Amino acid sequence: MKAGLLAAPGRISVEDRPQPEAGPGEVVVTMAACGICGSDLEKVKGNYRATQVIGHEPVGTVAAVGAGVTGLAVGARVFAHHHVPCYACPACFAGAYTYCPSYTKTNLDPGGFAEQFRVPATNVSRGAVLPLAPAISWEDGALLEPAGCALTALRTVGLPPGTSVMILGLGPVGILYARLARTLGAGWIGGADPSNLRRTAAGRKGADTSVDPRNAEKVRQLVQLATGGRGVDLAVVATSAPSAVPLAVSLVRRGGTVNLFGLPEAGSHLEEDLQQLYLRGIRILPTYATTERDIAEVHSLLSAKRLEVRDLVTHHFPLDKLPDAFQLAAQPEKALKVIATGPAFSG
Ligand SMILES: [Zn+2]
Ligand SMILES: [Zn+2]
Repeated sequence: MKAGLLAAPGRISVEDRPQPEAGPGEVVVTMAACGICGSDLEKVKGNYRATQVIGHEPVGTVAAVGAGVTGLAVGARVFAHHHVPCYACPACFAGAYTYCPSYTKTNLDPGGFAEQFRVPATNVSRGAVLPLAPAISWEDGALLEPAGCALTALRTVGLPPGTSVMILGLGPVGILYARLARTLGAGWIGGADPSNLRRTAAGRKGADTSVDPRNAEKVRQLVQLATGGRGVDLAVVATSAPSAVPLAVSLVRRGGTVNLFGLPEAGSHLEEDLQQLYLRGIRILPTYATTERDIAEVHSLLSAKRLEVRDLVTHHFPLDKLPDAFQLAAQPEKALKVIATGPAFSG
């Protein structure tokens, strides 16, 4: 079978791999669709985790179930999450599930960009294989994980009703953040991204206004105007660009929160006036990844039509064209969410 892997920094290759088999407690899924994530793009650039495994947003149909697996039948349409927390350590007890030491210990084999992949028993037993409701399309399903990341972030930072939000970086996940914040009761939502395509997409059911951040003064003016000069309650850094963090710090009100949401560039540093941070009471809060519980909640929001995501998928590529898909996904003026499709995809 075909599998897309990171052969070397900068090089995606589609290789022949043995068909995976379902051992005890495991599930094998035939891939229908898998989105390309910003973190996959960073891995390709050599900025994040030296691993061959890419693709963690896959949906498909169950091809085989191992001994002892209950509640999942061959043919069922599912989403599979690549990492799971242990629910039995201090980090998990504190609700910081994605910072659980065992969170990244298991992964899909050989990754989400494969005709078939194996889900480890640990993931299966903790509920990481989520059946999809009939109304959830493959495209919807491929956005469950990134939307889950946005939900986990919002849950962590807190979103009292009417919270004003400024999102720096309007890639698919930044837009999902805006739409979820809207659904969950935010007040004014602003956005910033150099790409016209992305600013326009963010305006659909998400941001009230968006600007081009290449002129940082324009971003500050927008926030000043929208908040009566106070600054926003919450500024979200949904980009790897290091310059976005000091900008976000300058945009929040006294006592406000900066959410480090996008994967920062490897080796980037933050230089801030500590006394100003202290006196202004700025909270800088990183949130990383998501859990199967939040993904299930996003699934509920999608099923109830309280969240729409499908329009964010701008391009489909068959698995053997994965290198082209990655190339396009890295061009913000041309694409939003790019998904690879596999043998189970139809329609
Ligand atoms: Zn992702
Ligand atoms: Zn844990």
